[in-house]
Amino acid sequence: MRVSCSQCGEKARIGKTNWFSRTSADLYCSCTDAECGHTFVMSLGFSHTLSPSAKNTNELVMALVKVMSLDQAKQLHSQLSLI
Ligand SMILES: [Zn+2]
Repeated sequence: MRVSCSQCGEKARIGKTNWFSRTSADLYCSCTDAECGHTFVMSLGFSHTLSPSAKNTNELVMALVKVMSLDQAKQLHSQLSLI
């Protein structure tokens, strides 16, 4: 991950990462430009999923099937039997 200094735009180095959870952290950064010397904290946080993890695909499918009507489930069953 690259972080830029918010003051001068040069590369910044992440010296420490303080994780609050699996999805959020504070990044303690320092600008690599010696003439700037800015040290600062950036926030890192999960935003949203673009493609679901393959590791929990079965759980997603089961959650969808549970909320289907009986007709939808029957239609899905017939579609799956064609595969
Ligand atoms: Zn800087």
